[in-house]
Amino acid sequence: MLYHLKAFEAYQPQGTMEPYVRTIREEESITVHHPNLTPDIFDKYTAMKHIVEAQKAGITKVEWIHVSDDEDAATWEELEKACSNCNGCKLYSNRKNVVIGTGNKKASVMFIGEGPGADEDEQGIPFVGKAGKLMNQCLEGLGVKREEIYIANIVKCRPPGNRNPEPDEIAVCLSYLEAQIKLVGPEKIVLLGSVSLQNILGKEYAITKSRGKWIEKDGIQYMPTFHPAALLRDEHKKIDFWKDLKEVFKKS
Ligand code: SF4
Repeated sequence: MLYHLKAFEAYQPQGTMEPYVRTIREEESITVHHPNLTPDIFDKYTAMKHIVEAQKAGITKVEWIHVSDDEDAATWEELEKACSNCNGCKLYSNRKNVVIGTGNKKASVMFIGEGPGADEDEQGIPFVGKAGKLMNQCLEGLGVKREEIYIANIVKCRPPGNRNPEPDEIAVCLSYLEAQIKLVGPEKIVLLGSVSLQNILGKEYAITKSRGKWIEKDGIQYMPTFHPAALLRDEHKKIDFWKDLKEVFKKS
């Protein structure tokens, strides 16, 4: 059986979370409404905390229900406020800045990376370190200004030691990115690296096999390619990265 958060509210006396936790412990999964897209159901931060509690209580599967009515969609202001104040996962504790995204909020091309590194955490802007500079050079070479595209990451706070974000962190943070995609409304999305590829399109995709090939999903064209940090480790990947971006910005 799946529980909707809305149904759960009826079980919640005096604002305590106990009945909620007790109920979901008996179940294998819980369905919740998207915390950013249902501002009228109840407070978004409360929803986020419930999800974290569910995960602490051993719930392994959290499913998101997306509210499709435009009137329910989060605004940029709501989204940025929710991200800036977020303590939805453990990455909250060590961050200096929440790295929400940068660029043209109505871009036709969006880039999605993995998560902020040290420089990004310091400045609160994605892709400003060595890897970002390399990506910028590539864009410039193609005659594309960085400000023309929108850039975001799978998680918005820096994973310690630049490790990959963990599944529980991604499960909570992905809702922000989904709301960003909806707000930007891009025609094309460049997925930078396997963390981005697998969390947007599915674990069945491998970056080495999928890179350079368009994948269509829900009316958006996705182009998987290497993460720019991988180019710093292996120069040979630069040629493929260049080719993939050239394909993205090809004039039709
Ligand atoms: S990584 Fe995402 S979910 Fe985790 S604290 Fe930061 S903004 Fe919130």
